[in-house]
Amino acid sequence: MEDSENFPITSDSKMYRVLAFYAFVEVESPKEIVRRFLAFFKQKDVKSRIYISEEGINGQMSIHKDALGLFTQWIKSIPCFSKIDIKAHDYHTHAFAKCSVKYRDQLVALDRKVNLSQMGEHLSPAKWQKMLEEKDESTILIDVRNSYESKVGHFKGALQPDLETFREFPSYIQELKAKLDPKKTKVMMYCTGGIRCELYSSLMKEEGFNEVYQLDGGVIKYGLEQGNKHWEGNLFVFDDRLVVPISSEENEIISSCHFCDQKTDVYYNCANMDCNDLFVACKSCIEREEGCCSKACFEKGRRREFDSSKMPTPYRKLSQEEKKALTKT
Ligand SMILES: [Zn+2]
Ligand SMILES: [Zn+2]
Repeated sequence: MEDSENFPITSDSKMYRVLAFYAFVEVESPKEIVRRFLAFFKQKDVKSRIYISEEGINGQMSIHKDALGLFTQWIKSIPCFSKIDIKAHDYHTHAFAKCSVKYRDQLVALDRKVNLSQMGEHLSPAKWQKMLEEKDESTILIDVRNSYESKVGHFKGALQPDLETFREFPSYIQELKAKLDPKKTKVMMYCTGGIRCELYSSLMKEEGFNEVYQLDGGVIKYGLEQGNKHWEGNLFVFDDRLVVPISSEENEIISSCHFCDQKTDVYYNCANMDCNDLFVACKSCIEREEGCCSKACFEKGRRREFDSSKMPTPYRKLSQEEKKALTKT
């Protein structure tokens, strides 16, 4: 297929698909692939955050529903991505601010080389569900995401190691090894879309855990295929939607407002750009605090204007001029 082929766009429809995909595959000329993506996306109704390296691709994007088939066909026509698994959610608008496709020398920033040839075994969502139902005391279930992610939703009974970055995982493994016999402990791990588990499971194998399983396609795929079973709360995602249900079934909200006790899982990033912390808040509290996480943030530093009609869309990066204007006031 030609990279310049146009998407059919219907003006009356506002339906979009938010896509997540990744692949650890050898990419011969990643910078050339970046150029092909940019050429293909040019003048098309696409917003994206895609990274490509010699070791593969990690992508998220939003696209008009009528163009999904064409995009899928196009990406699979690139030989190294012919088997890529694309997960899609419906959404009413774009979930990213701009169309970005970039080269990166590492798909996930790591301090050490990870041997991906001995990663944990991939379990389909159906097999994962069965294993959850049959697991005994010798099995541990690890949520390898950050604490702000697991806070609004996780599998029931999952360990939540509160990792900030991948770099903290090796010491967490050492803590586990001090308590558990890696030869006799069965490990199940999951993340949002699966990419982090490829690395985390490989590290656990390197550290001597014999039996390591990872949820293929992450929570996104699980929700699409198995629904809410064994999952509580909702799912944090790294785009404008911030928190989404994992399936069409209703799920209980498990987190509460940073200021009061009301149950909510709506995330805001602090209006003070020097803080920018993510926190969960209810509508009345966030309006009263004008988007700030604390009194200190309200009073000091560069505070962005709070417009409740635009919330909870995250604050965008400001231009240099906008930053300067904030510094003056
Ligand atoms: Zn509140
Ligand atoms: Zn703050």
